[in-house]
Amino acid sequence: MTRFIKRMGKAKRIALVAHDNQKGELLEWVQYNRQNLSKHILYATGTTGRVLEEELGVEIHKLMSGPLGGDQQLGAKIAEGEVDVLIFFWDPLEPLPHDPDVKALLRIAVMYNIPIANNRASADFIFSSHLVDEEYEQVMIDFEAYKRRPLPDL
Ligand code: PGA
Repeated sequence: MTRFIKRMGKAKRIALVAHDNQKGELLEWVQYNRQNLSKHILYATGTTGRVLEEELGVEIHKLMSGPLGGDQQLGAKIAEGEVDVLIFFWDPLEPLPHDPDVKALLRIAVMYNIPIANNRASADFIFSSHLVDEEYEQVMIDFEAYKRRPLPDL
């Protein structure tokens, strides 16, 4: 497969999502990293965004609530190259009605090679990297050949 380099700017577009049982954990993490996060552009699913904005007074671009399509909106943004980092504290103990959307979001994030943190330790490791505040050359798979593949027999 051919690859190409995509340049991530210094200011990262960071998506923050937490399931209800993890929202407290994400809020603490955001409080701790508030200064660093304020240098970046923040997105969140609806309820996560409300919690973070109310508690921190930071500006967040809010999408729909996860179960109402917010995870899918985020997946679309990643596919369109509009999100650089995904911090997603999903609930490992409770089944949720939108579990298929969660899986789809994680799949898209892996496919487009963006950094993903699914728990606090991973988020700490990502945020202690100097790459968070520097330009980064992201190695991307070139899907042009796939897009031009012969159409299937109909
Ligand atoms: P919420 O969605 O931020 O609206 O709670 C999170 C999710 O379940 O994906």
